[in-house]
Amino acid sequence: MAKPIVAIVGRPNVGKSTLFNKLAGHRIAIVEDTPGVTRDRIYADAEWLKYDFKLIDTGGIEPKSDDIILAQMKRQAQIAIDTADVIIFLVDGKQGLTDSDHEVANMLRVSKKPVVLAVNKVDNFKDEPNAYEFYNLGIGDPIAISAGQGLGLGDLLDEVVSHFTDYDVEEEDEFIRVAFVGRPNVGKSSLINRLLGEERSIVSDIPGTTRDAVDSYLETEEGKFVLVDTAGLRRKSKVKAEIERYSVVRTLTAIERADVVVLMLDAEEGIAEQDEKIIGYAHEMNKAIMVIVNKWDLIEKDDKTMDKYLKELKMSLKFLQYAPFLFISAKTGQRTHKVLSLVRKCYDNYNKKIGTGVLNDVIGKALLQKEPPMVGTRRLKVYYGTQTGVKPPTFVFFINDTEALHFSYSRYIENQLRDSFDFEGTGLKIEYREKK
Ligand code: GDP
Ligand code: GDP
Repeated sequence: MAKPIVAIVGRPNVGKSTLFNKLAGHRIAIVEDTPGVTRDRIYADAEWLKYDFKLIDTGGIEPKSDDIILAQMKRQAQIAIDTADVIIFLVDGKQGLTDSDHEVANMLRVSKKPVVLAVNKVDNFKDEPNAYEFYNLGIGDPIAISAGQGLGLGDLLDEVVSHFTDYDVEEEDEFIRVAFVGRPNVGKSSLINRLLGEERSIVSDIPGTTRDAVDSYLETEEGKFVLVDTAGLRRKSKVKAEIERYSVVRTLTAIERADVVVLMLDAEEGIAEQDEKIIGYAHEMNKAIMVIVNKWDLIEKDDKTMDKYLKELKMSLKFLQYAPFLFISAKTGQRTHKVLSLVRKCYDNYNKKIGTGVLNDVIGKALLQKEPPMVGTRRLKVYYGTQTGVKPPTFVFFINDTEALHFSYSRYIENQLRDSFDFEGTGLKIEYREKK
């Protein structure tokens, strides 16, 4: 199940970043060695009680005048309405109610998304009455908090998570969610249209689901799929940074909810930093991943072109060695019939379960074939391993001493697993624990 998405909306300086950082705590987990992934805090993992969720900060640049602030807030609110499961509307208890708060509240109200109203900067009890005037917004009971002091956050989170269950839609679970990501004009819509056209059965009636207009449901002999087009990202805005933020938030949300992420490239244009960044996120979020090189019809080629092209691509995407690559033309239909079967394969590998017996045979053999190196005075021993989860396949190995584990040896073990079992299209999580 994808994690619910919670967005924070509010005027500049009400304390959105402060709240974001408090809620995200230490769990902002963006691994630095993934190329292209910046430490921009648009997105973070957070948890409360038994719930894990994603937090997005829709705020962007610093606006300069009141009407710009209002316009920007409306766009922020729209991003939140489009992408989030629950919206935290943050207002400033010290400054009091403003006109732009009213306007945004109206937008949120008509959207019918669950909204939690939080009045920030209520730093102590005597300030609490400051929260009352926000009843006037007509979006429910204000919750007094102090993001700075860390007060009232428990009440806020209780209210936020109470809205999650509505979104756990069981019926959708049998569908494989596939997000097509890539820059504008690479051919995402063309491919999706072709897949919908080629395939026999488009499912139009899914009970009880709240659906995005860009989702297409279909059933083929390979299974049931939801194809998610992230093409609708282009938005009219005068500010370029805002368009980008909007499209990043939309894309990341689509990725978060997907099982399989398909990065689409235009063969003539190749890969750009933005692609690396986006697919880096998908990798961080442990999604199954494949890469499609589209518009292959436009490339002049001989029998070596594809190999050469592939080699260069893999050089740019070093962290993505497990992803399969497919060269297609959405226009002519060349190899498009392979798309969904490859998606299916990635998905199956992503959910693959390896029995403990077989797993330990493989590890035993690997240890015999290549003895672990001495690390200082110690040598690694692996007692046994077991698979503890899927999406992606997750393994725990019990060893004598974590300090004796050299990273080159853990890489060797991962490679041995990949050689023995087909994990194409999925990352693996491997954890080593000391057993005394
Ligand atoms: P954003 O523009 O909405 O992201 O707001 P920031 O998080 O950057 O906060 C704006 C200002 O409000 C900063 O100076 C914060 O230190 C301050 N601030 C944030 N939360 C609180 C709070 O709970 N109480 C008080 N008194 N100040 C706060
Ligand atoms: P999107 O923005 O990623 O959804 O891209 P579109 O599907 O709208 O395609 C952008 C343009 O590329 C359109 O003019 C398409 O006709 C064209 N196009 C898409 N796929 C192919 C292809 O495989 N070959 C060629 N030559 N053109 C393509």
